[in-house]
Amino acid sequence: MALRAVSVAGGRSYNMHPIAETKIIRPHCGEVFPIQIDTSQPEQILIEDCAVCCRSITLTIRCRPGAIVELTCSL
Ligand SMILES: [Zn+2]
Repeated sequence: MALRAVSVAGGRSYNMHPIAETKIIRPHCGEVFPIQIDTSQPEQILIEDCAVCCRSITLTIRCRPGAIVELTCSL
């Protein structure tokens, strides 16, 4: 089985790879940290451990395909 790029009728390009990259600011230590979000899931909760201060952050993320709608960091 082979994967190939699909061109959408009308010439509008559509990104078939729904990963969006964004940056968050760590609420504990203010460190800016890039993360990648799978935007194919409309709502998700991620728990990330900070590499600087080792404390965990809860990220609540709302997406539409290809874009992050809302991202909230909480301690
Ligand atoms: Zn930190």
